[in-house]
Amino acid sequence: VKESTKEVAGGERPPGRREMPRSGAFSYLAYPLLMAAALAGAWLARRAGISDVLTVVASTFLVGAAVFLLERLAPFRADWGATREDLQADALHGLVSNGVPSTILEMLLKGSLLQVAFWMRSDRGIDLWPDSLPLFAQVGLALLAAEVGFYAVHRTFHEANVAWLWRWHAVHHSARRMYFLAGSRTHPVQVLFSFGSTVAILWFLGVPDEVILYKTVFHTAHGIFQHSNLDIRLGFLNWILAGPELHRWHHAVSPEQSNHNYGNNLIVIDVVLGTRFLPDEPVTPPAVGLPPDVAYENTFVGHLLLPLTSRR
Ligand SMILES: [Zn+2]
Ligand SMILES: [Zn+2]
Repeated sequence: VKESTKEVAGGERPPGRREMPRSGAFSYLAYPLLMAAALAGAWLARRAGISDVLTVVASTFLVGAAVFLLERLAPFRADWGATREDLQADALHGLVSNGVPSTILEMLLKGSLLQVAFWMRSDRGIDLWPDSLPLFAQVGLALLAAEVGFYAVHRTFHEANVAWLWRWHAVHHSARRMYFLAGSRTHPVQVLFSFGSTVAILWFLGVPDEVILYKTVFHTAHGIFQHSNLDIRLGFLNWILAGPELHRWHHAVSPEQSNHNYGNNLIVIDVVLGTRFLPDEPVTPPAVGLPPDVAYENTFVGHLLLPLTSRR
């Protein structure tokens, strides 16, 4: 661990390389423009009667393809190009590790939690969700409510100091480079906890399907940017959104740096609880991944086995 800390903290840069790639209009515009397009597309799709599932799949694919192309044109770090193994494994994680547990949870929990929300509204007169607010405000509230569960689970994975708990989440941190698909690398067991804790809150609150659609479209597009190899600059939004500038540090090899920025879409809970971390001065971005002595095979199956086979 000592060595990896040195590698991260040491300001040694290869000669002739700039501290940070030069940012242009693209750094400031790519995120808001693509995000606005994804949300507007979802809004139009809903009015056209297209199913929410198809809308989420299409918007994830389109934003992913756009970020993939931008990474080819203007990568943040040249050495963060994904390998064929990364792409194959992480595409499978997107489909299987994320898709299967979330579908199971939806089948098991959604109906009963929505029924509780309905019962509280009809029998008790307790309406937990402000349906009368404008849509964008409801989407903001849904993001915030989801964040509470995610932050608690995520920070516990990191800081509870329970090895068997960390192992499941370590799979997400095993990516050695940030790139558009790195965010999908998650162990299905971790997805049960993190996805479960976020959507259970939304179903319990009785959040309407339309709001959950925009929240999901935002979340998937944000996750692609958050892990991207792009020089995205969010400016003052780095106090509200858990964007790539912050999330890179969460993926640092060194736990002193990575035990920060637990936010999924929003960084506001980190701000309130003092776990937000973003160096003021432009510094060399951290080396990302697990400490070098953690051995695992960089394949889909290797990632699934990592929590069971890794000794650390
Ligand atoms: Zn983490
Ligand atoms: Zn991540």
